[in-house]
Amino acid sequence: MRITIDDHSGFCFGVIHAIEAAERYLQNHNMLYCLGDIVHNNEEVNRLTSIGLRVISYEQFEQLHDTTVLIRAHGEPPRTYDIAHQNNITLIDATCPVVLRLQKHIFDFHHSHQQEECQILIFGKKGHAEVIGLLGQVEGKGIVISSVDELDRIDYAKPAMLYSQTTQGLEQYYKLIETIKKRYEDAGNGHLFQYKDTICRKVANRAEQTALFAKEHDMILFVSDQKSSNGLYLYNICKENNPNSHFITRPEEVKNIDFSNTTSVGICGATSTPRWLMEQCAELCKE
Ligand code: SF4
Repeated sequence: MRITIDDHSGFCFGVIHAIEAAERYLQNHNMLYCLGDIVHNNEEVNRLTSIGLRVISYEQFEQLHDTTVLIRAHGEPPRTYDIAHQNNITLIDATCPVVLRLQKHIFDFHHSHQQEECQILIFGKKGHAEVIGLLGQVEGKGIVISSVDELDRIDYAKPAMLYSQTTQGLEQYYKLIETIKKRYEDAGNGHLFQYKDTICRKVANRAEQTALFAKEHDMILFVSDQKSSNGLYLYNICKENNPNSHFITRPEEVKNIDFSNTTSVGICGATSTPRWLMEQCAELCKE
C-alpha cells in the first residue's frame, strides 16, 4: 500500500509565524498567555500547552494585568489593544500580514466613506475570530453575510462595499458578488456596489490542489479538527472528488478504517493541521 502525505497541506505562513513566535518566547519563559486558540487544532494546542502556552478567553484577558499575551494570526479588534494598554499588558502581535492588510483597508475605507453612509459587508462566519477583528475596524457597524439567504439585510438604495474573510471559498464569494450585483442593478443602483477580493490565496489555491490530490488516491484521510472552518471546507472538496474520504482528528482513528482493497492512501489536511500529526497518521497506516 502506497501512503503519501500531501506537500501542499499543513500550516500556512500566518499560522507558522504565530506558532514560532510562541515557541521563541517559551524558550526563555515558563508561560505565555494566548488570546483564543492559536490554531484550530486541538492536538497542536495540546502540544503547545505542554511547553507553557495558556489559552485564555476574552473574559480572562480583561482581568489580566502586567503580563504578556500573544495575539494569534486571526487578528483582533482595536478594543483588545485598548485593554492591553490600560492593563499594562505587553502584546506579542502575530496577526497575519494578510489579515492586517485587510483590517487596514476596511478601516481606511470606512473612515473615508462615512458621509455617504456606505454599508460595509463582510462575507464570513459570524463569531469567527477574524470576522470579529474585521468588524472592530468599523466599530461593529458592518453587516456579516454568511450565505445568499441573508442578502435582504442589505439596503439596495445605499452604497455598499463588500469584503471577504480571508479563508472563505473563492467560488462562493464570486457567486455572492454576482447575486448582490444583480440585486443592485435590479434596483437601478448598480453603480452603488463595490467589492474587493480579499480571499487569501494560500487557502484558495489549496482547494484546487486538494481536489487533484483526492482524485489521485484510492482513499483519502483528511486530518483536521471540527473547529477548523478551512478544514471542513477542504474535507468537502475531498469528498466531492473522492467519496472514499475519511475525516480524522487523531491518529488512533486510523485503526477504525478498513484498508482492504486499498492500494494508495493520500493523507492531507487543513491550513491548521500540523505536519507531525499527518506523519503520525501515516505511521499508523503503515502498521
Ligand atoms: S490563511 Fe492566509 S490570511 Fe489566514 S493566517 Fe494563513 S496566510 Fe494568513
